[in-house]
Amino acid sequence: MSAKYVYLFSEGNGKMRELLGGKGANLAEMTNLGMPVPQGFTVTTEACTRYYEDGKTIAPEIEAEIFTYLKTLEEMTGKTFGSKENPLMVSVRSGARASMPGMMDTILNLGLNDEVVEGLSALTQNERFAYDSYRRFIQMYSDVVCELPKSHFERIIDEMKEKRGVQHDTELTAADMKELVSLFKAAYKEMMKEDFPSDPREQLMGAIKAVFRSWDNPRAIYYRRMNDIPSSWGTAVNVQSMAYGNMGDTSGTGVAFTRNPATGEKKLYGEFLMNAQGEDVVAGIRTPQTIDQLRDVMPEVYEQFAAIAEKLEKHYHDMQDMEFTIERGKLYMLQTRNGKRTAAAALKIACDLVDEGMITKEEAVLMVNPKSLDALLHPQFDPAALKAAKPIGSALPASPGAACGRVAFSAADAVKMIEETGDPVVLVRLETSPEDIEGMHVSQGILTARGGMTSHAAVVARGMGTCCVAGCGDIVIHEDEKLFQLGGKTIHEGDYISLDGTTGNIYGEAIKTVPATISGDFGRLMGWADEIRQLGIHTNADTPQDAQQALDFGAEGIGLTRTEHMFFGADRIRPMRKMILSKTEEQRRKALAELLPMQRGDFEGIFEVMHGLPVTIRLLDPPLHEFLPKEESDIEEIAGEMGLSAVEVKDTITSLHEFNPMMGHRGCRLAVSYPEIAEMQTRAILEAAINVSKKHPGWKIVPEIMVPLAGEVKELAYVKSIIVDTANKLFDEVGSKVDYLVGTMVEVPRAALTADEIAQEAEFFSFGTNDLTQMCMGFSRDDAGRFLGVYYDKKLYEQDPFARIDQKGVGKLVEMGVQLGRKTRPDIHLGICGEHGGDPSSVEFFHRVGLDYVSCSPFRVPVARLAAAQAAIRFPR
Ligand code: PEP
Ligand code: MG
Repeated sequence: MSAKYVYLFSEGNGKMRELLGGKGANLAEMTNLGMPVPQGFTVTTEACTRYYEDGKTIAPEIEAEIFTYLKTLEEMTGKTFGSKENPLMVSVRSGARASMPGMMDTILNLGLNDEVVEGLSALTQNERFAYDSYRRFIQMYSDVVCELPKSHFERIIDEMKEKRGVQHDTELTAADMKELVSLFKAAYKEMMKEDFPSDPREQLMGAIKAVFRSWDNPRAIYYRRMNDIPSSWGTAVNVQSMAYGNMGDTSGTGVAFTRNPATGEKKLYGEFLMNAQGEDVVAGIRTPQTIDQLRDVMPEVYEQFAAIAEKLEKHYHDMQDMEFTIERGKLYMLQTRNGKRTAAAALKIACDLVDEGMITKEEAVLMVNPKSLDALLHPQFDPAALKAAKPIGSALPASPGAACGRVAFSAADAVKMIEETGDPVVLVRLETSPEDIEGMHVSQGILTARGGMTSHAAVVARGMGTCCVAGCGDIVIHEDEKLFQLGGKTIHEGDYISLDGTTGNIYGEAIKTVPATISGDFGRLMGWADEIRQLGIHTNADTPQDAQQALDFGAEGIGLTRTEHMFFGADRIRPMRKMILSKTEEQRRKALAELLPMQRGDFEGIFEVMHGLPVTIRLLDPPLHEFLPKEESDIEEIAGEMGLSAVEVKDTITSLHEFNPMMGHRGCRLAVSYPEIAEMQTRAILEAAINVSKKHPGWKIVPEIMVPLAGEVKELAYVKSIIVDTANKLFDEVGSKVDYLVGTMVEVPRAALTADEIAQEAEFFSFGTNDLTQMCMGFSRDDAGRFLGVYYDKKLYEQDPFARIDQKGVGKLVEMGVQLGRKTRPDIHLGICGEHGGDPSSVEFFHRVGLDYVSCSPFRVPVARLAAAQAAIRFPR
């Protein structure tokens, strides 16, 4: 049986989204519900897939099928395509399975040519209307099908209005419209070097092809990547007989939502324009009227529309976004879909629909996009102020939120500037490193010239909930002169700039921000998510403040404390450097003894905040050179303190240099070379646990000591023996003890491959999917951003594997690690603490492979809670 590629609206239904796309399925459903829908047909998403398989051509049998259905449409409407007597005109619109706003514009009035327009004019007794429709068609076809600039045609209209001394399009006469048609056709010919196509069948095929082609335009590819839509879905095309809103004062067109998409308020919300078509409503040429005013203008139409809106909402169990046209007093529904909404509106609508008995709590939980919650957790720009501002550049939206502050070019300058002026600061760096941590913490936002979504700046900023725009290739930073150039503007130290971490836009001016608000609906929905989810949600937190923030957002434990950041404060970096530069173990132990009380204090702070909830602390991970001084003056200072010459210190720094530090002397390899570091950290962790337990006898503090980067069970066993010996020694010394666990990160592929062996030593695993991705894929997490863009463009990758887990490859390692680990130790506790822990589709994967928890940065905790609940509903386990 040959495949069917075209369906009449009356042949489809709302469940056929995959084949008919969202718009097509809903048009079919509205038709089935007996609503006034101009009839038409849908060319399926499979036809789009075929178009690409067939080398971007429409196969003859599909073309034939399209024309067979066109004939049926002619019979249904009693009109004929291309006929002068009683012409059928159609609209052509894209419609993918998921709505992709702005992906492709609509083409209206298709089927007009020099003869047909005359027929339409005679038939309607309205020459102005006929030629207005025709000039719009030429304009839309030129833009959408031939990609000619819209502005060219707009300019011709503006010139005409100026010549006639009128302000609005509606004031142009029939003769003016006629003249516009010839001017537009001439412009088309000049740009395309051929006549505007007059054969309606050629126009139709051109438009359908343009829709298929639009599936792969850069806007669509970008939108899909941001919204996890696979490119294999394709788009459908809807060909619908025209209803005209531009037939005079009893005609009009509008868009409306069943509830307010900005606030969620339950009230019909929308706009319409009389004597208008298509984009006029949103184009802002004439100010539209509110939907309430339709009640005065056309009371019957309003009542009918309001009733349909209510019925549609009840039918779809969700807020609807509808387009309608009124043709000479008669209402037509052109489309309906679940409306896009702000995060705040999404929460209110979900809660209200539960209260109204329209949906279950599970359905409410599925209704809110976890990623959208980000917007509720960070300061935002004042919308009016943002509208008036113009970006000077843009880069990766690495950490959401809005930031406005004075520019500082180093972490130290940022700290100083805030101390001296009290003004907010935005830190601008080529790239950041752990040294910058303090400056990053005090800044409102961070802008970097290099690095991707998992660069140091991006990871740390997300962890702190600080806005970050990363990897701005266009920026030219002159650190010595303390200025940067971007978008033709020069910004000096102390000048105000603003960053939008949600869009990646950079503004060379101050834009007012407003704080985030969390309404009661947010808490209610999160409560439902918590009842439903099976994954635990932990957080990656290195400070008591971060831990507290995560608890406020609902975290149930700490899945990763990275201890390296604790060694960068002014009081810490010196003993740390002394420790690294030591020539003997004795010297090293002396320096470590200085660090011990500080580390203990760090952990006490964290245990205090966590009230006995699980806390996983990782032993030192980064290569040691990251802690060493770079500035000459710092080198001289530390040399002086240690009784060494600057040359000797420099020699040590040189000897610690690594060509590939990410794969070098780091992780548990440090503990193997310098066991005394692991000893100090173990002691600090356990002393802190003992001290805080004594203070709070009711809390059951069981620290989880985590060994990073293990790949061989013997190396893990070795480091574990240091931990256990240190613990036993300490417990003997102080005469009291605490329970503790020793586990490891699974972040070297070999650890996943030999997880059954690793589990003989490890009491828990935490998958470090940042390193696991880097080492499984074989590219650097800091540099991959530079070439991944090309990979997206060429469709070799659809997603950033550092943001969304690569299920087939890296995911297989995780799955293997889970199974092998449980084989050896059935009750082994399994989590993940890479950046993927806060990514909704990755969270779903981790739920499916049976992890016990995910751990993510504090500001992603609500996102992960909701994503975990959605996963539990979709994939019960
Ligand atoms: C990881 O590798 O996934 C991880 C969490 O550790 P880090 O990012 O600190 O290397
Ligand atoms: Mg790691």
